[in-house]
Amino acid sequence: MPKRVAVATILAVATLLLGGCAGGAANGEGDERPVVLTTFTVLEDVAQQVAGEHLRVESITKVGAEIHGYEPTPGDLRRASGADLILDNGLNLEAWFAQFVESLDVPHVVVSDGVEVLPIAEGAAEGHANPHAWMSALNVQRYVDNMVAAFSELDPEHAEEYAANGAAYQAELQAVHDELVADLASLPPNERALVTCEGAFSYLARDAGLTEQYLWAVNAEQQATPQQIARTIEFVDEQGVPAVFCESTVSDEAMQQVVEATDAAFGGTLYVDSLSEPDGPVPTYLELLRHDVDVITGALTGSAR
Ligand SMILES: [Zn+2]
Repeated sequence: MPKRVAVATILAVATLLLGGCAGGAANGEGDERPVVLTTFTVLEDVAQQVAGEHLRVESITKVGAEIHGYEPTPGDLRRASGADLILDNGLNLEAWFAQFVESLDVPHVVVSDGVEVLPIAEGAAEGHANPHAWMSALNVQRYVDNMVAAFSELDPEHAEEYAANGAAYQAELQAVHDELVADLASLPPNERALVTCEGAFSYLARDAGLTEQYLWAVNAEQQATPQQIARTIEFVDEQGVPAVFCESTVSDEAMQQVVEATDAAFGGTLYVDSLSEPDGPVPTYLELLRHDVDVITGALTGSAR
């Protein structure tokens, strides 16, 4: 497969480049803290909350990146080889990650370990766990437990602080979860439908009691086929859904076709697979959840229009 060849080439190039580098290549000038890399920006923020000031936390992929089918660069490998710990979501979110991490002598921890997963309902990955487990704040409490354990092992000297940071952040997660459930509970029954591009909202829909409908199940699959669009139009018409949505990391073109063919409005852009830039609408994970719930309730009740 071409992707395998590409990764193998990158690995070879990276090995050559690494020859001349000293250990700790990912360390910034004069920054001696252990380096923790995450596979994407949402995990970076959560890890930062737990790490506080004692670890240097960075994301391998940048803001706005398509994380399912990402192709790592030689620079990513060079950076990762100098890290002390790598955190990935797991649940087959990062299709590129297994081969990437196999080539490195750096420990990695799957932060979704132990969460209660929901299955993907259809498509090529039908029956597998839906990888977007972080869209439930309650699941992220478990992510935090896994991070506290990993950071304490990496840096035992600050274990108490990681535990305290983790507990404080878990309380915030609980508050956002309660807020979100209360907000979405105010929607009348006919407006309790969440129509999106990727089927990335199963966990949020479960927490909030919404019916989930999407164009395609996972970004890694065929996207926006005529059948997917027709099926979504039918759902929106039948349910009288007032608004539909799409995510920041994919094109909303197909959803605009649904809007044109139905009475639904385009409700706005939701964030799932990436945070925004620091000056954008969702620079942190908690803001991502709040933003999405605001956009969803606003558009479905018509108060945002
Ligand atoms: Zn996704």
